[in-house]
Amino acid sequence: MQDVPPTAIQPSAARASPWPRLGRWLGGGTVRGEGEGLVGHRIDWVRAAPFLALHAGCLGMLWTGASPVAVVVAASLYLLRMFAITAFYHRYFSHRAFRTSRVVQALFATIGASSAQRGPLWWAAHHRHHHRHADTARDPHSPARRGFFWSHVGWFLTEEAFATDRRRVQDLVRYPELRWLDRHDAVVPLLLAVALYGLGALLQRVAPELATNGPQMLVWGFFVSTVALFHATVTINSLAHRFGRRRFATRDNSRNNAWLAALTLGEGWHNNHHFYPGSVRQGFRWYEFDPTWYGLRVMQALGLVWDLRPVPAWVMDKAVRP
Ligand SMILES: [Zn+2]
Ligand SMILES: [Zn+2]
Repeated sequence: MQDVPPTAIQPSAARASPWPRLGRWLGGGTVRGEGEGLVGHRIDWVRAAPFLALHAGCLGMLWTGASPVAVVVAASLYLLRMFAITAFYHRYFSHRAFRTSRVVQALFATIGASSAQRGPLWWAAHHRHHHRHADTARDPHSPARRGFFWSHVGWFLTEEAFATDRRRVQDLVRYPELRWLDRHDAVVPLLLAVALYGLGALLQRVAPELATNGPQMLVWGFFVSTVALFHATVTINSLAHRFGRRRFATRDNSRNNAWLAALTLGEGWHNNHHFYPGSVRQGFRWYEFDPTWYGLRVMQALGLVWDLRPVPAWVMDKAVRP
């Protein structure tokens, strides 16, 4: 990892006044130093407020009710955005497990950014740090060290976790469009929320038989879908380091878990992944359900992605269980 002079490391959130932190609701983009600076110990409730509001928004269903079309939109956005997170934020940006064009890279970075899991640089920097220090004192989200709640969501809301260690993502910071998504990480989720409200209002007008409206589409398509997507994604940090089988004797506590793989389009084969993170596949056997891999194969057939990195033959020889 290349060294960056101390002047490149900006201090994190101003401690004296809450206002600079409130201002940062509309953008991440803090730069911090290497290592333990990413391991936080205290939740920053001011900056966590939008995240809590996202959960409170789900309660809106008590007023708006549901309709089949709103639930279908919520489920579709869950699947599309989960694919963007697993195939692009994780396998592409964090692990460079395949190649693609700059346009497809930007498109899926934007879809990923609509998940309200911060920008692609932030996500990849934290994830690379996790692989380097998994289940050690420098891992921001190890369930073995800090317990379930902390590994699942607590770490995400600390002042330290809002920072991006750009030295971890030197290969990505050269793209201004990715830096923009990172700096303004609330913009794409807000645009999606507005678009969903507009869609619901439009359907109410042109197809009243669907029994939906703006508020209902906003609650299901944005709040419910985004909250479900977040909690499913972070089960890989919390549950997949605790429950499941260990095929490989990795230095961390990662597990293979079919339930989590179903929930996350293939990310649940987390022990496989920690053993060999560079592969585009995480289900190493044909029967290990890995829809992200199937989706990438389709994109490969369409010429949208290429150079998909396989699992080398020697990997399975290292398995301590089938
Ligand atoms: Zn892990
Ligand atoms: Zn990974």
